[in-house]
Amino acid sequence: MDEKQDLKVFISARESSCDECGEKLGRRAWITLVGEQGALCLTCADLDHLIFLESGNAALTRRARNYSTLAAIVLKWSRARKRYERQGILVDESALVRAEAECLADGDARARRREREAERRAELDREYVERFAQRVRELFANCPAGTEHDVSEHACLRYSGRVGRSSQAKALDEEAVRLAVIAHIRHVLTPYDDLLAKGRDRGEARRLVTDQVRSVLNTWQRA
Ligand SMILES: [Zn+2]
Repeated sequence: MDEKQDLKVFISARESSCDECGEKLGRRAWITLVGEQGALCLTCADLDHLIFLESGNAALTRRARNYSTLAAIVLKWSRARKRYERQGILVDESALVRAEAECLADGDARARRREREAERRAELDREYVERFAQRVRELFANCPAGTEHDVSEHACLRYSGRVGRSSQAKALDEEAVRLAVIAHIRHVLTPYDDLLAKGRDRGEARRLVTDQVRSVLNTWQRA
């Protein structure tokens, strides 16, 4: 039996804010509902590394879902039909890339990928991404080649919607870089996403991978 449970993400119908970070999310915000903690933004819920795949291409959706450790169904309330309707799914980027590669004959999948890459280029401030990556390399000199770019792109996408250019310098401080590296290690090198997918709560999942994260950090930092 598949133990993976699909998490649910709701596109909110009214003004909402995150109960953890307090961020005002506006209308049509993407939120998760977490027990008594209430509504969380995707950043606080640790889902903001996932990529949205709109409904419509069943083969691509099925494959991406299968390859993704962590996935969430995106639902929106339909006022007309008085029920939640599925808009698509959130999946790991690597799962989507693999699914797209298998649907290579599928022109639609190729177009989607080009579109996604263009969107990302438009959204990211390349110079900032480069500086962030350099900071990662300085502080974690032993991390595997290329890691600094993965960490940096994700961190900068995360900041791009949130802080203006003036605050970016601050986001390059050692603590911010360290947190971005920790988030990367958790998602990529520990079973953290798997634990979330199996319904563990975030606090518990984090505790379970703490030692593993610390040991990788130490290895990457060692001069
Ligand atoms: Zn939040």
